[in-house]
Amino acid sequence: MKIGLEIHVQLPTKTKMFCSCPAVGAAGPNEHICPGCMGMPGTRPALNRAAVDIGIKLARLLNCSIPDVMWFNRKIYFYPDLCRHYQITQYETPVGLKGEYYLGKKRIGITRAHLEEDPGSMERSGDGSLVDYNRSGMPLVEIVTDPDISSPAEAREFLTFLLKDIRHVIDLPSDGERSIRVDCNISVGTERCEVKNVTGLKNVERALTYEAVRQTKILRSGGRIVRETRHYDEERKVTTAARKKEYEGDYAYIGEPNLGSINVRRIADRIETKESPLSMAMRLQKEFGLEEKAAKQIVNTSVKLAELFEHFARKTGKENALKWISGPISSNWRSLEKDADTKKDGLTDIVVRFMNGEINDVECSMLLKAYITGEDLRSMEKNNADLDALIRKAIAGNPSVVDDYRGNEKAGNSIIGTVMKETRGAYPSSDIVETTKKILDEMIR
Ligand SMILES: [Zn+2]
Repeated sequence: MKIGLEIHVQLPTKTKMFCSCPAVGAAGPNEHICPGCMGMPGTRPALNRAAVDIGIKLARLLNCSIPDVMWFNRKIYFYPDLCRHYQITQYETPVGLKGEYYLGKKRIGITRAHLEEDPGSMERSGDGSLVDYNRSGMPLVEIVTDPDISSPAEAREFLTFLLKDIRHVIDLPSDGERSIRVDCNISVGTERCEVKNVTGLKNVERALTYEAVRQTKILRSGGRIVRETRHYDEERKVTTAARKKEYEGDYAYIGEPNLGSINVRRIADRIETKESPLSMAMRLQKEFGLEEKAAKQIVNTSVKLAELFEHFARKTGKENALKWISGPISSNWRSLEKDADTKKDGLTDIVVRFMNGEINDVECSMLLKAYITGEDLRSMEKNNADLDALIRKAIAGNPSVVDDYRGNEKAGNSIIGTVMKETRGAYPSSDIVETTKKILDEMIR
């Protein structure tokens, strides 16, 4: 099965792509419109530089090459929501070309990423159609992937991570999942179908799954897949045929003379881009010799946690940084996240005391937790002592566990289970697991 996606990301600019109409939702239809985005004769487009900047940032995020000079094209077709009868888009010189994205070890090629304007939208009403041009001229980046995705679940996973990364680089609204629209190309055999305009990641997975099953059934019964564009019906959760698929040759492209050529290299040189989480994970591996899994785990928890790791690694060395970041700091990350910047030096000081031998493992762990959560150290100590006693009691009630544990670490699970049952959520399960292991390790020593 081969899946390729065309992802339309709506860019968070103040104004539309080629005019000064606001690029935010309007109260009613046809409110944010002007002769420019209505395509009236005599108007000329003026390029929104903010959209170009964002395009460059996204191209970099996707490891695309950026051309020295780019221009826009008119994609000519007739449809009522496109009142100019052409859409201004990019054809020969997309802002990003031939990139790649890694989903774990899986490489997904990026064919291109180009800037374009959205057309208006249509709504069926009674026996006619209503057109709303509020959306006409909204700035988009369309990201086109190679057909490298091998399942509907992988498509959803890819989009989840991609969205997270995009949100790290640009200010996508928090309901960003709905502000992207995806055209899904899928082929089970040799011919592909395209499911147009799917919004929401869950729907992408559902539409693709439906298509995969539909195509497989046709092929199994000796039928032939017809190349066509389909729609996804969110209510009925099915795809339906819309029209025969257009080929690129069905569209006419000509250069857009009103915008001229843009020296995008010069603009790109001036734009600083935040490091993407993916390249950050790769850099941590290289710079600090982290295992790939550890680096990704830290970065995927939060880029801020990874920054804290770097701070720790510089002050206390990689081993200590890894031990404490992936231990007590990760497990209390939710409490720490918003104060991470102000508390980082205090946390480092505690670990330095551990390195100097002033406090032991357990004390360091407790001090870190107390500092992060603001919990009282004495009640924490009492809690820990109580838990300690409970676990020892459980072991005393089932002493053969100690010998079994010597041969197989899993033998400790029965004690963990007993204590969890008895304490009914009074202690975090990670504390019970850690303390049980610690005590059993001591006993077999
Ligand atoms: Zn306008």
